[in-house]
Amino acid sequence: MSDLLARATRVLQDVFGYPGFRPDQAQIITHVAGGGDVLVLMPTGGGKSLCYQVPALLRDGVGVVVSPLIALMQDQVAALKEAGVRAEFLNSTLDWRQAQEIERRAAAGELDLLYLAPERLVTERGLALLDRLKIALFAIDEAHCVSQWGHDFRQEYLQLAVLAERYPSVPRIALTATADAATRREIIERLHLRKARSFVQSFDRPNIRYRIAEKDSPRRQLLRFIREEHFGESGIVYALSRKSVEETAQMLAQNGVDALAYHAGFTAVEREERQTRFIEEDGVVVVATIAFGMGIDKPDVRFVAHIDLPKSVEGYYQETGRAGRDGAPAEAWMVYGLADVVQQRRLIDQSEAGEAHRRAAHAKLDAMLGLCETVRCRRQYLLEYFGEASAPCGNCDNCLEPPAQFDGTEAAQKLLSCIYRCEQASGFAFGAQHIIDVLRGERTDKVLERGHDRISTFGIGADRDAQQWRAVLRQLLTMRLVAVDHEHWNVLRLTETSREVLTGARRLTLRQELPRSAARKSEGRRRKPRAASSAGSSASAGATPLDGVPLEEAPLDEALFQALREWRRGVAREHGVPAYTVLHDSSLREIARRRPLSSDSLAEVSGVGATKLARYGEAIIEVVRAQQ
Ligand code: ADP
Ligand code: ZN
Repeated sequence: MSDLLARATRVLQDVFGYPGFRPDQAQIITHVAGGGDVLVLMPTGGGKSLCYQVPALLRDGVGVVVSPLIALMQDQVAALKEAGVRAEFLNSTLDWRQAQEIERRAAAGELDLLYLAPERLVTERGLALLDRLKIALFAIDEAHCVSQWGHDFRQEYLQLAVLAERYPSVPRIALTATADAATRREIIERLHLRKARSFVQSFDRPNIRYRIAEKDSPRRQLLRFIREEHFGESGIVYALSRKSVEETAQMLAQNGVDALAYHAGFTAVEREERQTRFIEEDGVVVVATIAFGMGIDKPDVRFVAHIDLPKSVEGYYQETGRAGRDGAPAEAWMVYGLADVVQQRRLIDQSEAGEAHRRAAHAKLDAMLGLCETVRCRRQYLLEYFGEASAPCGNCDNCLEPPAQFDGTEAAQKLLSCIYRCEQASGFAFGAQHIIDVLRGERTDKVLERGHDRISTFGIGADRDAQQWRAVLRQLLTMRLVAVDHEHWNVLRLTETSREVLTGARRLTLRQELPRSAARKSEGRRRKPRAASSAGSSASAGATPLDGVPLEEAPLDEALFQALREWRRGVAREHGVPAYTVLHDSSLREIARRRPLSSDSLAEVSGVGATKLARYGEAIIEVVRAQQ
């Protein structure tokens, strides 16, 4: 073992209390500790933080960490302090005096790690501070924020290139969990990391099961999903609007689910309280707009549900990635329908952004729609989107219950001609509801008023129910064979490519939606989700390790586990930090299995480092003893 690796391992064990490195961590850490630059791409929960925390402790000086997420920064610093590391942050939550004291300590060499918000770093004052420090390394977290096309773009990240010019001898490590090949190139380019070594791990999260179903009544579907499959478990539900968030949370609460609403309309204090309840208590479901979840690394979120369509695959993957960080089975569940497609397209068309941005946004949305409509393995589709080849996973809805397909050419022709005939007969276009009524031969007031019961397409689609027609229409919209005119009451119009289908030059394979009654039954069917260990993961390197899956099978003493959590709650309250920064659930579980009665055996528990042992050892052993 190289000397550097030996020292790194000692830090890992003594400070963080972990027995060994995860895939790539050792190489990354020794490379950075040796002065090299690195680009790290690891899935959420992969263990990115240690990749700069350990080298910062090995090298002289302070490790400067640029992080855009204030909440995450604070939790990380709290966790580091719990482990006995001299860490601080500088961000807008500090007053002038507190900030000055931290700057003084940094300059005096009294800190191991200093977390900085990017907007703070790139100011004159920020750079002047850096000039006064002995810097061990720069870590640039969430490095994909440099990408102007990405959904997390941050202007200040572009200015981080200055670090390479100003401090050429300080090693830099850029980290992200979301970056396709193009974004990776952009990171390397913009942060001047051409000489950096890249560590690109598989994006796969094998313990997450992906499921996307057709939306009919989203709240009822959601309630059924939670009640029948995840009752009493922690989860996040994403919805698009504040109103929908509040109504959904209320509906769940009325039905016995411990649900909370979360969105930007609440005060900072209310948001904080809700977030804390979610993190610290068991079985809380948060219904939120996308504002929730950034920088929360609660390990035991068992499901993430979307009742509205996300804008991009990146966003969807980031949000669903908040499930199952502990490696135990988790689910990403979504319902989506025709209205989602129409609404999201309209939002883009009506946005103030320039033409190029709108085009990019449409392309992102189309990729997301592709995921919804695909009949292939969802995971394969997702991984391919991020540039990774894999085999069908066996742990998504399409793998478990392959959807039926059919030659949809004729159905599409009927629908397209009906749109055409109605417009021709009346001199103006109509919306989806009316077109489907005409197809199905419904004599509604509007149909009779317009005389559409006398056109040639009236009743030619009676063989499908309205729901099935909406599914056909949705797929045609996705393929841009039909357009919705947002400027004119969402009427349907043919597009340039509709002709190819109408003339029979282009044939279509469509996903077969089951008639309503049958869909119910299949949705209710359950299969036991599997843990990360047994999931057929993709062929590429870097499997996510399994903290949540117990290695030894000593039974968990539930009463002891609860007593330990009670003790932890007290400590967390006293220190004013989230409970998991004191010790993770996984560590408490291990203690509740091993029942250590000596400091030596407690030290063997993963997550119990030297500082925690010294601080809490006696108290923990006391709790164990009291439960005998
Ligand atoms: P990321 O930033 O990649 O999402 P984190 O750095 O937050 O992931 O790590 C995820 C979890 O895994 C944390 O709880 C961390 O303490 C734990 N972890 C990281 N490296 C190891 C390791 N070598 N052994 C055990 N646990 C680890
Ligand atoms: Zn699959």
